[in-house]
Amino acid sequence: MEIEAAVVEAPGESFRLVRLQMDAPGPDQVRVRIHACGVCHTDMVMRDGALPVPFPCIFGHEGAGVVEAVGPDVTSVEPGDHVLLSFHSCGTCPACHDHQPGYCAEFFPRNFLGGIGPGQGGIWRGDDRIGGNIFGQSAFASHAFAHSDNVVKIDRDLPLEILAPLGCGVQTGAGTVLETLRVQPGQSIAILGAGAVGLSAVMAAVIAGAGRIALLDRHAHRLDLGRELGATETADDIADLNGPFDHIMDTTGVPALLQQAMEKLALRGTLALVGAYPPGQMMEVEPSAVMGTGRRIVGVVEGGIDPRQFIPRLVGYYRAGKLPLEKLIRTYPFGAIEEAFHASETGAVIKPVLLMPDR
Ligand SMILES: [Zn+2]
Ligand SMILES: [Zn+2]
Repeated sequence: MEIEAAVVEAPGESFRLVRLQMDAPGPDQVRVRIHACGVCHTDMVMRDGALPVPFPCIFGHEGAGVVEAVGPDVTSVEPGDHVLLSFHSCGTCPACHDHQPGYCAEFFPRNFLGGIGPGQGGIWRGDDRIGGNIFGQSAFASHAFAHSDNVVKIDRDLPLEILAPLGCGVQTGAGTVLETLRVQPGQSIAILGAGAVGLSAVMAAVIAGAGRIALLDRHAHRLDLGRELGATETADDIADLNGPFDHIMDTTGVPALLQQAMEKLALRGTLALVGAYPPGQMMEVEPSAVMGTGRRIVGVVEGGIDPRQFIPRLVGYYRAGKLPLEKLIRTYPFGAIEEAFHASETGAVIKPVLLMPDR
C-alpha cells in the first residue's frame, strides 16, 4: 500500500514528505495508522548522524494511532485498537525478563539500526528499502510498523495527540522519579533541565509527594511552567541551587554540570544520569567522597520502566488530572515538521506534536 512519510535522505538534511510503499505486516508486526507523533531530542541526534541509523531514514518514536492490521502471530492487539508506541526490545534477555527492557541486550540494534526480521514487511521507494523501523516504529509517517511488544493499548476516548509523548519523553522523566529513584514523600529532588523529560519529572515528583522540587534551566518561560506544575524553587545557574538534595536528576546531557551536582547530593543521595551525553566526555568523581557519603550514581534509559506496565499507570495519572501534558504540547500539521523541530531546538516549545493528515 502507499503511505506518506517524512524522510531524511542523509545526515543533517531536512525532512521531505514523500510517498512510499509499505508491505503487509509479517510476523510480530503491527501496522498502525499514525494519528500523532511527538518530536523528541533523540530525533535530532539521529537526523544529524550522531547515531548510526540507516539513511534514507524515517524518524519519529512517540507515535500514537489506531491498529489497522496485524501479522499472523500477533495477539496483543487487534485492528481498531487505539495504541501508543514505545521503544523496542527483544523480550527474551535477562533485562527484558526482569521488566527492564530499556536495558535490553539488543536495545541499540533494535532501536537505532531498525532492521527487519525474516518474513517481515518493509517500507520501500521502488526497489530501495527505506530505514523505517527506528525505535521499532518510525512514526513520522501516515503508517508505521510497530511490534507486538511495543504497542500499548489505551481507551478510545483518550486524546492520542496529548498522550503520544508518553512513549518516550514523559515515561523517561516520570519513570526515573517513580521507578528508578523511587522518590519518597517529603524527600528533596533537583531536576536539571526543564524540557519534556525534566518537566515530566516535576509532575512525577509532585505525585510522589516530594518536599522540595528544585528545577534548573536557562529559559525563564520553562521555569515559569515548572513552577506552575509544582516546582518549589527554580534557578538558571546550578551554583544557585541550594543543596543538599536526596535526588538529583540530570536531563541536560552536559557533563560539566555533573561534578557540581555531585557536591549538592545529600548523604546517601543519588545522581541519575538521564541526558544524551556526548561520547568521549568525562565527569570527574572523587571516589573517597562517594565512598564516605553513601552516594550513588545511576544511569537511566527510558525511565527504567516496562512501557506495557508503566504507560497504563501514567494514563491513570492523566485521567486523574495529575499529568497535565497539554501544558507542554503544541501541535503542528505534519507538513510543518521543520517548523516543529526548529521550535524544539530553540527551546520555544517544550513538546511539539505532529498531527498526521486524514487521521
Ligand atoms: Zn531484551
Ligand atoms: Zn525519545
